[in-house]
Amino acid sequence: NTSPVTVLGLGDMGRALAAAFLAEERATTVWNRTAAKADELISLGAVRADSVAEAVTGSPLVVVCLLDYGVVRETLEPVAGQLRGRTVVNLTNGTPSQAAEMAAWVTGHGGDYLDGGIMAVPTTVATPEAFILYSGEQRIFDTYRGVLGELGSARYLGDDIGLASLYDLALLSGMHLMFDGFHHAVAMATSQEGGSAFGFTELLVPWLTNMARLLPAFAAEVDADLTTAAEPRLTQGLDVQVSGLANIMDAARDAGVSTTPLESSMAALEALLAHGHKVWSAPASVRQLRTAP
Ligand code: NDP
Repeated sequence: NTSPVTVLGLGDMGRALAAAFLAEERATTVWNRTAAKADELISLGAVRADSVAEAVTGSPLVVVCLLDYGVVRETLEPVAGQLRGRTVVNLTNGTPSQAAEMAAWVTGHGGDYLDGGIMAVPTTVATPEAFILYSGEQRIFDTYRGVLGELGSARYLGDDIGLASLYDLALLSGMHLMFDGFHHAVAMATSQEGGSAFGFTELLVPWLTNMARLLPAFAAEVDADLTTAAEPRLTQGLDVQVSGLANIMDAARDAGVSTTPLESSMAALEALLAHGHKVWSAPASVRQLRTAP
């Protein structure tokens, strides 16, 4: 497939996306509000579009990676009449409802629309580590599967347009809470004179890796809970959990470290107790979050 592509938005991520297409020798037209950000890509063979209209009409496939959906709409609005017969793949970070709104707007102007979520950082785009989530009509994904695969493994989630952003944001939620945990653990471990974050991390990474390996088993119990209401078997006494967490909080306080990141964990355990649970389990924790006000 030698279909040319346009990349709208040459921030850190947009430049990495355009460079990945160029590395595959794909004809690539680029546009950015601040034109100088295209210079290096031009030296690699990209075609500079002097206007959004020139960029959009330059290729049947327009990959968009801008700050947010407001900027995407603002950028595309003046060229709405030129979207007919083209495909917009929007890799900008946003919510499922923003994706649905954008899809309706693009298709309302006769274009095809896929929504996407990039699970990579600029330096890992087009490496085996990168994967990109897509949702929208399967026909559109199938047409451009090969082209999109040049950015990183293309993972199609289904025709519900909001799925890519929902999963993207859910994955980022897991990441944020993991980084909060890392910061808190490091703050505790380095509260003593001579504490080394790097040395401590040599213990933290294998520990968290071992814990992450438990997730598929927990997840299977969450699924079983939804489908068959099976009793979970991977459980631990809630009293043990509460007293262990209280110890972490006490030790943090003694070390002059905030307990704020742990307060929501304690509140979740206390809510399980308040609902009459005697044991901690993944299904009960997930169910409680899902029904939270
Ligand atoms: P940058 O801040 O580097 O780039 C932002 C882009 O948006 C630039 O092209 C900028 O243009 C453009 N922009 C901002 N405001 C306007 C405006 N009013 N009109 C026109 N263009 C505008 O961000 P990234 O490239 O890192 O991120 C882009 C998207 O990719 C975001 O949605 C981000 O969440 C997502 N993403 C980023 C990842 C990363 O690791 N960086 C990872 C996964 C997703 P200008 O250069 O003129 O300012």
